[in-house]
Amino acid sequence: MLQQVNGHGSGSAAHSGESLREDLKELLGGEVPPQQLNDLTKVNPVTLETVLRCLQARYMADTFYTNAGCTLVAMNPFKPVPQLYSPELMREYHAASQPQTLKPHIFTVGEQTYRNVKSLIEPVNQSVVVSGESGAGKTWTSRCLMKFYAVVAASPMSWESHKVAERIEQRILNSNPVMEAFGNACTLRNSNSSRFGKFIQLQLNGAQQMTGAAVQTYLLEKTRVACQAPSERNFHIFYQIYKGAHAEERVRWRLPEGAAFSWLPHPERTLEEDCFEVTREAMLHLGIDAPTQNNIFQALAGLLHLGNTRFADSGNEAQPCPLVDDAQCSVGTSALLLGLPEDHLLETLQIRTIRAGRGQQVFQKPCSQAECNTRRDCLAKLVYARLFDWLVSVINSSICAAPDSWTTFIGLLDVYGFESFPNNSLEQLCINYANEKLQQHFVAHYLRAQQEEYAMEGLAWSFVSYQDNQPCLDLIEGSPVSICSLINEECRLNRPSSAAQLQTRIESALTGHPRLGRDRLSPEPSFIVLHYAGPVRYRTAGLVEKNKDPVPPELTSLLQQSQDPLLKVLFPADPEDKSPEEPSGQNRAPVLTVVSKFKASLEQLLQVLHGTTPHYIRCIKPNSQAQAQIFHREEVLSQLEACGLVETIHISAAGFPIRVSHRNFMERYQLLRRLRPAITPSPHGPCPDGGRSECPPCTEPATLQGLLQEILHTLPAPLHCGRTKV
Ligand code: ADP
Ligand code: MG
Repeated sequence: MLQQVNGHGSGSAAHSGESLREDLKELLGGEVPPQQLNDLTKVNPVTLETVLRCLQARYMADTFYTNAGCTLVAMNPFKPVPQLYSPELMREYHAASQPQTLKPHIFTVGEQTYRNVKSLIEPVNQSVVVSGESGAGKTWTSRCLMKFYAVVAASPMSWESHKVAERIEQRILNSNPVMEAFGNACTLRNSNSSRFGKFIQLQLNGAQQMTGAAVQTYLLEKTRVACQAPSERNFHIFYQIYKGAHAEERVRWRLPEGAAFSWLPHPERTLEEDCFEVTREAMLHLGIDAPTQNNIFQALAGLLHLGNTRFADSGNEAQPCPLVDDAQCSVGTSALLLGLPEDHLLETLQIRTIRAGRGQQVFQKPCSQAECNTRRDCLAKLVYARLFDWLVSVINSSICAAPDSWTTFIGLLDVYGFESFPNNSLEQLCINYANEKLQQHFVAHYLRAQQEEYAMEGLAWSFVSYQDNQPCLDLIEGSPVSICSLINEECRLNRPSSAAQLQTRIESALTGHPRLGRDRLSPEPSFIVLHYAGPVRYRTAGLVEKNKDPVPPELTSLLQQSQDPLLKVLFPADPEDKSPEEPSGQNRAPVLTVVSKFKASLEQLLQVLHGTTPHYIRCIKPNSQAQAQIFHREEVLSQLEACGLVETIHISAAGFPIRVSHRNFMERYQLLRRLRPAITPSPHGPCPDGGRSECPPCTEPATLQGLLQEILHTLPAPLHCGRTKV
């Protein structure tokens, strides 16, 4: 059963002078200045142009949040606005009887999710999906929401704790600087760009207190450890140790001031993110003690020295590639810091071990100069990725609540936004695939499901068309043939595959697909995917190799021999511990490619999201220079188009914002049937027994509209929607 509510109302103006003014003007037929339109569903007519004009007017008036029906649009202020995130304001939204009537804010979403969790109507888990392109403000938004929950859902128990930092909410917040230090980097688009996806479940007990949290991460961009695009930087943590180490630590970690590291480009730049002390402090509160921290930073310094290890061409296939002159020292220092024997490290980088034949005979073959470099990079990526995963597991064990101490959760999803560069590869394919999946979740949840439900319930409704991205998902992940299946198939065949081979397979199997394009002018094998957010050209070269993500078994066994206590934990000397990619024998495990693993984790995520009531925040970047008070219409327009905001507004404006199942509705409101005569004059005069007996006129079914009016006038508790005009 659906509750019909005026499609244009965005809130009874009980608590907001501004919206009262707005409604009065609307009633009097007056024009509302665009900067005062809190809800884009009130823009008339709803077009890209009018929506853009409204957002621009609001942005220039320092109003950064706007409702767009079921979505909140968040414009990046690109300047500090502390008053917008103060604990006082958080409490104001928390205390409001109808937070939806206050100015649009992420705290409205926060409060709504918080109330929904305990709602008698639908006490279900909630999720907030924060989307937008890189630098639009996703991480900022989810960080602020975490702070909001830490304030409103603080458990009184934890106040008894002597030290503030020991409180669970504080520990959960401490996970942010640590994960950002290790997983964020300065890119061309964002000086604090998250290079991994994150889903955090904030766990609440029956009393709605936060008792813990669990973090799940996705696809860390580990290649950044060994390879940074021009003008980009490595992960923050490397700069933090390089700049922030104390004199004695510099000696211990072999990081003299001014030392040059090829994996540390642009160390001269100072960023607010380069704050080593904050990271250390946060790690400490998460239970990572000083000796363990020392081991971590020492290993990272070891990786920096490994990056300075360069090989010359031996000029002879039978001879291992020698180190270039100044690299001998680097390899020695790296080995020392990683707890490895220097000669063993060098030999592993220079010489490949091949197992062949039935008897698995072992052959050794010197690697080419390029292969040596690849093995060096691979070693660094392997260590860093394991370190990151280990950190996440340590954080989880520090913040995760015991299974019986929480009943519901609010999930915050902060994943990398849609990416399109001049050169796109497997990383972008995975990222854009994830964005397609999330967009599909949104489309399925709001646009399709809502309209299908109207049709099913026989409501008068003219269908609003929207871009369904299922065809694009079919192209990427569908069966039996899709881009992913073809890349996986090439990996499975385990043959030396060329870009041309994969290109031919993609073209012969998928040409004619409506979402596949081809750039005929491209000098190299490539294909174009017409994503919902725009076309992206992917280079075919390197896709198969990246998908295999091969780790030479010699590298793993080298690391398993490390004497360093941290590396011993990261690489336990267990023969069963071989990663599935390793081609290590006849009985090897089935190949689990990057794409397969990513697809599985994405499906798991979607399953979790499907079990929640989702809320959407669309972050918009007003300009690519990260400047305050600059609104680039073209850039904003393409972001609005990419997320189909206008269609969303159309459907929300015309639609029914409250959706309550008949059963839940009856459970909550059946008592009102008894009160009915007291509210609505009975057609036969006052009811003789106050409506308590089986009095036929009193038990007549009310009209939906009438019944809702009764409920809304009778109940003090708000329904979970801003639009309460009936
Ligand atoms: P994303 O995660 O979408 O890539 P971020 O959340 O890292 O983007 O935001 C990029 C930068 O924009 C932040 O480092 C911060 O400087 C600025 N920023 C984002 N949101 C806000 C905000 N609400 N107030 C002030 N600055 C913000
Ligand atoms: Mg981010």
